Amino acid sequence: MPELPEVETVRRGLQPVMEGARFTRVEARRGDLRWPLPKDFVARLEGKTVAGLGRRAKYLLADLSSGDVLLMHLGMSGSFRVAQERAQAAESTPGGYYHERSKDTAHDHVVFHMSSGARICFNDPRRFGSMKIVARAKLDQEPLLRALGPEPLGNEFDAAMLARACRGKMTSLKAALSDQRIVAGLGNIYVCEALHRARLSPRRKASTIATRAGAPTERAATLVEAVKAVLKDAIAAGGSSLRDHRRTDGELGLFQHNFRVYDRAGKRCPTPGCSGTIRRIVQTGRSTFFCPVCQK
Ligand SMILES: [Zn+2]
Repeated sequence: MPELPEVETVRRGLQPVMEGARFTRVEARRGDLRWPLPKDFVARLEGKTVAGLGRRAKYLLADLSSGDVLLMHLGMSGSFRVAQERAQAAESTPGGYYHERSKDTAHDHVVFHMSSGARICFNDPRRFGSMKIVARAKLDQEPLLRALGPEPLGNEFDAAMLARACRGKMTSLKAALSDQRIVAGLGNIYVCEALHRARLSPRRKASTIATRAGAPTERAATLVEAVKAVLKDAIAAGGSSLRDHRRTDGELGLFQHNFRVYDRAGKRCPTPGCSGTIRRIVQTGRSTFFCPVCQK
C-alpha cells in the first residue's frame, strides 16, 4: 500500500508531463478498476487540458479545463509508467520512468496519450486502484474526500488541532494517528516512525496528549513535529519505495533503509544512548514496531 510520500513522489513525477498538456487520446481498456469507470470517462477527458495536478491525502487530483476533476488512487498495486510516444525520444530521456511490472501490459488498464508527447499507463494487477471524474464545484461533497481530516503537512494540522481530536479518546495513539478523519494520508509505516521520533509509545492512550479541556500538551506538539519531519524526509528521499512503488524515474528511493523502527523487530533501537530492542506487536490488526525503552 503506497503511503503519502509515495503518492506525492508519483505526483511530482507526473506533473511535468501532465500539467499544461491535453489528453489527445484516452484508452480505457476495461470498464472497471476497484469500481466501474464512469460511462463517459473517455469523453470527459479527451481534448481537455490538465490545468494542475494536486494531491489530497492519497488521491491525485487532475484539474481539467472543463471544470471537472479527475481523481486517481493507486490502491494496493497501482502505478503509473511514463514513456514518450516516439521511441527515439524515450531512449534519450533517462527520466522516463518504469515499474517492475512495466512489461506486463496486460495490467495496463488506462492509458493517457498527452499532447506533451507522453504516454502514461496506469498499471494495476490487483485492481484496488480507482479513477473517478467529479465536477470541481461538487468536490466538497465528494464522499471519498469529504470525511478526510487535514493534510499532515498543511498548517491546519497542528498541536491544538490534534489535541482537540484526541481529547477524551481512550483508543491508542497509534489508532488515533491512523484514523483518516483525524489526519489524512498517514499509514502504518509513518505512524510507527513518527511515534518513535516523538518517543511516544504507540500503546499510550490518545487522550494523554491533551488536557481534560482539550488543550495541547507538549506531547502533542512533539508528535506533530515528528509526523511532519518523517513525511518531509520520506518525500525528499523519493518515497519509501516499498518494492511496488518505485520513484517515477525508475530509481528506488533510499528512505526504506532509513526506517528507524518499521520492519526492524529484534534490531537495536537507533535512538542515541538507548539500549532498547525494537519490538513488533499487533494493534487493530496491523503490525506496530516500537522501542519499549525510549518510547513512553
Ligand atoms: Zn529506544
